[in-house]
Amino acid sequence: MISCSQKKTSESFTAMNTFMTVTLYSSSSKRGETVCYQIQSRVDELEQILSTTLPSSDVFFINHNSNFPASLKPELQTLIDFSKLIYEKTEGAFNPALYPVIREWGFTTGEYKVPSTEKIQELLPHTDFSKLYDDEKIELDFGAVGKGYAADEALLILEENGIKSALLDFGGNIQALGKKPDGSLWKVGIKNPWDGQVACALSVESKAVVTSGGYEKFFEEAVQRYIHIFDPATGRPIQNDLESMTIVCESGKYADALSTALFVMGKDKAIYWWKKQMAEKSFPVFDFILITKEQQLIYSSGLAGFIEPMYQFESVESVMPD
Ligand code: AMP
Ligand code: MG
Repeated sequence: MISCSQKKTSESFTAMNTFMTVTLYSSSSKRGETVCYQIQSRVDELEQILSTTLPSSDVFFINHNSNFPASLKPELQTLIDFSKLIYEKTEGAFNPALYPVIREWGFTTGEYKVPSTEKIQELLPHTDFSKLYDDEKIELDFGAVGKGYAADEALLILEENGIKSALLDFGGNIQALGKKPDGSLWKVGIKNPWDGQVACALSVESKAVVTSGGYEKFFEEAVQRYIHIFDPATGRPIQNDLESMTIVCESGKYADALSTALFVMGKDKAIYWWKKQMAEKSFPVFDFILITKEQQLIYSSGLAGFIEPMYQFESVESVMPD
């Protein structure tokens, strides 16, 4: 147990187009503030590299030039390599090269529209992430993994500074370090997709908890809802049986990328994929919590005992590895 003389520091800031809060416990408030400031600076630094909209960013350069920068910053190289791994493992469900398509639908500006089928067909061939270094028209968007990666980097800063207890909330991406100073687990709320309240509470220690949900960003036209998570195969917003997909694991970037990828897969394929990875043991262990449109709550067995439904679901079920 961490001594109760630990001082709590909580700082919020805006970065990566979202509201971020760092809460940590340290020996003194001054020290806590310094660490929060270091984290904010690191997140700002990552945004300067990864932003799709800052003209000085490395991603902006790639997206607006036919050539690659002479040398890639290590952070960008790390994310490209990691994305390649997840892209391959998920058979392209996670694809950070959908930017031209996502832009066409207006998600980058908020000027939403349903593009013509011809336009989507014209853009789709240039969203093949495996041709990153060959297709001059490729444009990148790390929106599905950047915040998780930033949380991993923030965790390194906490650890370097000897912090043993902290909770990061990077726009709903949660990263818990250790336990609470009183020795109890951190309690994280998973959002109810229908009313914005808490659908279930999850108790964690040293885990990232990241949710992807259609309710987060969407537009509606002719009674159809178009969400911000895309099917890379069709270049259209996902329409499946899920409301949200939450991934719980040690690494923020895995949790972030996988929450998006498993949302794309839909309920049955996501459960199948999880079982496959757990059986093959070639992938870090992770857990999931999914909420379907039919108001089912389904979670992987590793979370049993740590999850507490706070809503009248039609059914609550846990899934075991095969
Ligand atoms: P997240 O909220 O982490 O699920 O990320 C969603 C964001 O990632 C979207 O706003 C898009 O910018 C981008 N995106 C959408 N679909 C995909 C996909 N299939 N793979 C990777 N990134 C995506
Ligand atoms: Mg994600």
